[in-house]
Amino acid sequence: MGLKLFNTLSRSLQEFAPLAPPQVGMYCCGPTVYDFAHIGNWRTFVFADLVRRALEFKNFQVAHVMNITDVEDKIIKGVRQSGTTLRDFTAQYETAFFDDLKTLNCLEPHQKPRATEHIPEIISLVGKLIARGFAYQAADGSVYFSIAQYRGAGCTYGKLLKLNADELRPGERVKSDEYAKESIADFALWKARSPEDGEVFWPSPFGEGRPGWHIECSAMSMKILGPGFDLHLGGEDLVFPHHEDEIAQSEGATGQPFVKYWLHGAHLLVEGKKMSKSLGNFFTLRDLLAKGYTGREIRRLLLSAHYRETFNFTLDGLQGAKMSLARIDECLAKLREIAQSAGRPANPAPDTSNASALGRFGDALDDDLNVSAAWGVVFEWVGDLNRRMAENAMSPDGAAAALAVWEKMDSVLGIGTKSGPEIPPEISALLESRQAARREKNFKRADEIRGELQAKGWVIEDTAKGPKLKRI
Ligand code: AMP
Ligand code: ZN
Repeated sequence: MGLKLFNTLSRSLQEFAPLAPPQVGMYCCGPTVYDFAHIGNWRTFVFADLVRRALEFKNFQVAHVMNITDVEDKIIKGVRQSGTTLRDFTAQYETAFFDDLKTLNCLEPHQKPRATEHIPEIISLVGKLIARGFAYQAADGSVYFSIAQYRGAGCTYGKLLKLNADELRPGERVKSDEYAKESIADFALWKARSPEDGEVFWPSPFGEGRPGWHIECSAMSMKILGPGFDLHLGGEDLVFPHHEDEIAQSEGATGQPFVKYWLHGAHLLVEGKKMSKSLGNFFTLRDLLAKGYTGREIRRLLLSAHYRETFNFTLDGLQGAKMSLARIDECLAKLREIAQSAGRPANPAPDTSNASALGRFGDALDDDLNVSAAWGVVFEWVGDLNRRMAENAMSPDGAAAALAVWEKMDSVLGIGTKSGPEIPPEISALLESRQAARREKNFKRADEIRGELQAKGWVIEDTAKGPKLKRI
């Protein structure tokens, strides 16, 4: 079965056929760095990570781009209130964002362009739109996209969201980055400098000012991935106006299709309600870490439901995630013990039960990234492995094969394994020389090494399956 994805553009499930397989160009709208990202934002970024990992699991070569929106209305307000520079203000949240991304074990995007480092590309795109008659400078000095001119040229504004053409009120303009979702209005491409902007402005052929939010993404995505690329992602709130405007700007400037597949993740609620600071249900990732939850537990929970379903995040759910990870960890630890008991490198043997689990896991992903079905396969397989181990019917090679299958599944799920104490190479080397001394019946030397290890904080436990190192 091939990979099928729900394309917001066609409002249907479609076979995924990239423009130049096996390459896939994927752009995910990144964070607006004016605050710490909240758990709702993280649902969307973990979803983007799932898309990337699932494509790589299917052997596509993904070029993953995620922009940093580092100039925008809310940021300017933050700069003004904090009295810092734009770069100092955004740098703290950008660093925090990438630390959090790592905590959630999301793969780092290959390119992370900043809007402020693409001002020439943005200006050139605005210039093209003016030249093609799709943009105009208004009396306030700002440059706006003309929806009427765009439609007049036979282009569709409203490709992602069916919009009522009667709602078009020509001449109505918005300068704000976030305008009413019901209104179709000409939107700002270049915002003329105003006193509230302080030092945040750039020179341009249209006068001093700064870019609008939507044009930033068009300029950066097309610069890196080309005028037409495969996949564009974001949370469902970005469908209109942000993504609709990106399509209009990009296709208006190039005259060719912008993106083949649009994927949108549904929102996250907390304890059944829209997150808000006043309701006390607003969590950043850091708030949850401070409560003692780990990145992998939070990732497990964020990845438990299908991306197109609204997800209700609860603290009880996090407890459940902790327990379900413990089940996997326990099974993996037992498998490792059996695999190592061979006393020689294990030789993963083909196994029909593993192959079938991996096949069903892949089928679930093919079905529009049905991650809840994929977890279902994992837990059923873990149950089967546990039963075989309880019946002493698992050979070291069988255990090694199961572990290899888990590696493949985890390349998509990204929960890794519970980290035990890492054994430093120096300590492993000491253990190895103690074993050598014992083999040579030099028990005095073996005991000395035991003492050395103890002094370094490690004890040796001799078990039926060989020596084990433990931290004191
Ligand atoms: P922002 O930094 O506000 O531009 O948002 C970053 C990403 O988070 C965007 O893709 C939004 O669609 C997404 N997002 C915002 N709120 C939520 C939420 N409650 N649930 C899921 N995604 C969200
Ligand atoms: Zn964007």
